[in-house]
Amino acid sequence: MENSTTRIRTRFAPSPTGFIHLGNLRSALYPWAFARSKGGDFILRIEDTDQERSSQEAVDVIIEGLQWLGLDIDEGPFYQMQRLERYQATLKQMLDGGLAYYCYMSEEELNAIREQQIANKEKPRYNGLWRPEIGKTLPPIPEGVKPVVRFKNPLDGNVVWKDAVKGVISISNEELDDLVIARPDGTPTYNFCVVVDDLDMKITHVIRGDDHINNTPRQINIIHALGGQVPVYGHLPTVLNEQGEKMSKRNGAMSVRDYQLAGYLPEAILNYLARLGWSHGDAEIFTKEQFIQWFDLDSLGKSPAQFSPEKLIWLNHHYIQHADSGLLAEQTIPFAKQEGIVFDGNEVQAGPSFVKVVDLLKARANNLIEIAQGAKLFYMDAPKHDLQSAEFKSNVSETIIPVIKEFTEKLQKTDGSKEAIAAAMKEVLTNHSMKMPVLAMPIRYLMFATTQTPAIDAMMSIIGIEEVVKRLSVVA
Ligand code: GLU
Repeated sequence: MENSTTRIRTRFAPSPTGFIHLGNLRSALYPWAFARSKGGDFILRIEDTDQERSSQEAVDVIIEGLQWLGLDIDEGPFYQMQRLERYQATLKQMLDGGLAYYCYMSEEELNAIREQQIANKEKPRYNGLWRPEIGKTLPPIPEGVKPVVRFKNPLDGNVVWKDAVKGVISISNEELDDLVIARPDGTPTYNFCVVVDDLDMKITHVIRGDDHINNTPRQINIIHALGGQVPVYGHLPTVLNEQGEKMSKRNGAMSVRDYQLAGYLPEAILNYLARLGWSHGDAEIFTKEQFIQWFDLDSLGKSPAQFSPEKLIWLNHHYIQHADSGLLAEQTIPFAKQEGIVFDGNEVQAGPSFVKVVDLLKARANNLIEIAQGAKLFYMDAPKHDLQSAEFKSNVSETIIPVIKEFTEKLQKTDGSKEAIAAAMKEVLTNHSMKMPVLAMPIRYLMFATTQTPAIDAMMSIIGIEEVVKRLSVVA
C-alpha cells in the first residue's frame, strides 16, 4: 500500500481488440482523474499480446478518443508486444527461484482430469502433478512435449485486499490452482504480463472494470512471489444499457468516435461519463477542473451504472447552448462542410458570418449536426419562386402583399439590428391588427421557401437587410 509520499501512478490498459465503447472509456477516465487529482501520473499501456485480435486501427481509435476527451497521458503508450524480453527475463527468474515450474501435462490429460472432477462434483482445477515439492518425485519428463510454465500458487491461506470500490474481498487460495504463465511456445500469458507491467510501471492504483476481479487474487499472489508492492485495486461495476443488459457493440453501444461523428462535444461526453458510476453530492453539470478537484475513489458507485442516451443528449445540449460561439463554430465546420457549406479557412466563402449563425442556432441544438443543418438555410441561394403556383399563393396571399411591402420599407430605415427589425415588424402588425405568424410565415416562405426557421427577426438581422429586401421584393 502506498504511504503519503508515494507518487500516485495509474494506468489505462486496453486490449486493442476491436471495439471500445463509451462505457469502456470510464476505465480510462477514473484513473486519469485520480492521477490528476493527486498530482500523479497517468500511463497508457496497450495490451496487444492477443495478436490475432489486436489491430493498429483499434489502437488509433483508443489514442484519438483519449486525445479528443482531453485525457492526457504522462507515459506511454507502452505496448506489451515490445516488452516480451522483459517477460521472458521474469519467467526465467521465477523458474530459477522455484516460484514457477514446467508442467508437461498434455491437453488430453488435463481434460480427462477435468471431466473426472466434474463427474465427482468437484471444482475443475489442475491437480499439481508437476508441482515440485520437497521430498516429492516428479514423473519422468515425456519426450516431445513442450511444457507450459505454471506459477506456484500458495496452497493455503487467503488472498485479501481492500477494494477501493467493493470493500474487503477475501479469496481462499484453495480456490486458485497453479496458473499457466507461459504457453508451450514460451509466450507469456495475460495475467502474468499485467503483473510484470504493473510492477515495472510502479502502478499504485489499478482502477479497472470488475470483469477483472477474478484475476486480482492471482495477480496479487504473483506480485507477492516477486516481492513487489501490491497496488490498491478498485473494480468498477459494469455499465448497463437502457435495457439493463451489459453494454456491447451487439446491442447498439457506440464508440467514442461514433459520438464525435454524431456531433457530441467532448465536454459533454466527459461530464456524462464522469457521472456514470461516480457522484459528488447532486452535481450533474461540472467542469473538467471541478471533476478533477472533486474526484475521489470513495465516491465511486458500487452498483452497475445505467447508460441513458437521453441524459447524454441533455448534457450535450447544455454544453452547446453555453459554449463560446466562436469555438463552437470551429467545431461545427466539419459538419457544415458535409452539409455543403463552403469555407475558406474558418470563415464561409460567401454569406453571413458563420459565428453569428452558430450563435443563433446553438440555443436549440442537441448536437453539431443540427447546427450545421440549420445553418444551411443561411447559405443557400435565394429561392426561385413561381409566383403563379398554387403553393406560392397559399403561402403568400394577395392580402398580405401590401403588408410585406410596408414592412420592407420600414425595414430599410432600421439599423439592421435584431431589435430594430422586431420593432418594425411589431409596428406593421399593430397597424393591421395582425398576429405575428400571419406576417412571419409568408416572410419565411419568401426568404427560404420554408416556414420552419429559427426566430425570423434574428435571421433577418444575420442575413442583412439588403439581402432580405431583395428576397421580399419579389412581390413588391
Ligand atoms: N486489457 C484489459 C482489458 O482491456 C484490462 C486489464 C487491466 O486493466 O488490468 O480489459
